[in-house]
Amino acid sequence: PVQEFHDVEMLIDGIYLLLAPRFKKKKINFLKNSQPNLPQVFVDPGQIEQVFMNLFLNAIDAMPKGGDLSVSISLVSHDVQEAEQNGDSKSVCVQVQDTGTGIPEENLEKIFNPFFTTKSSGIGLGLSISNRLMQENGGKIEVQSKKDRGTTFSLYFPVPENER
Ligand code: ADP
Ligand code: MG
Repeated sequence: PVQEFHDVEMLIDGIYLLLAPRFKKKKINFLKNSQPNLPQVFVDPGQIEQVFMNLFLNAIDAMPKGGDLSVSISLVSHDVQEAEQNGDSKSVCVQVQDTGTGIPEENLEKIFNPFFTTKSSGIGLGLSISNRLMQENGGKIEVQSKKDRGTTFSLYFPVPENER
């Protein structure tokens, strides 16, 4: 990856612009909330755009009758265990939340596996690639979901010490 400092919100805005016509057609409201003065993150922009593209396309698939796609961006401190290893480190956290079908509990551990799909014409690579791209950029991706309630993916981008 070719990593440089980027404003993660600008990467999200770029993907939103590409998908805006599709959100409109599918009756999906795109909502974005971002904490002021967030630090930049050190990432390969094309790779991180690909992650957001995969998550937004999955959210569209999960909301066939429309709904809300909410993105929130904030600065978070690492949990105690990680702080012991990494010092007092912080991350930019992006939560991508939809009001779609949700993911049944028994599938939650499989969705990052290559070729796992529940879609008739799915390929099942979007999340496995996204997981790998987040790792390659020093970050991580987590999922929370409730069947019939919706799904939230949380992305964590470590903030380099001198950027805070
Ligand atoms: P694909 O989209 O080709 O199926 P992905 O790797 O992108 O492959 O996703 C794997 C599976 O994870 C999907 O088939 C679906 O079952 C589940 N999934 C991913 N994102 C969502 C979401 N936002 N809501 C509900 N299910 C999801
Ligand atoms: Mg997908």
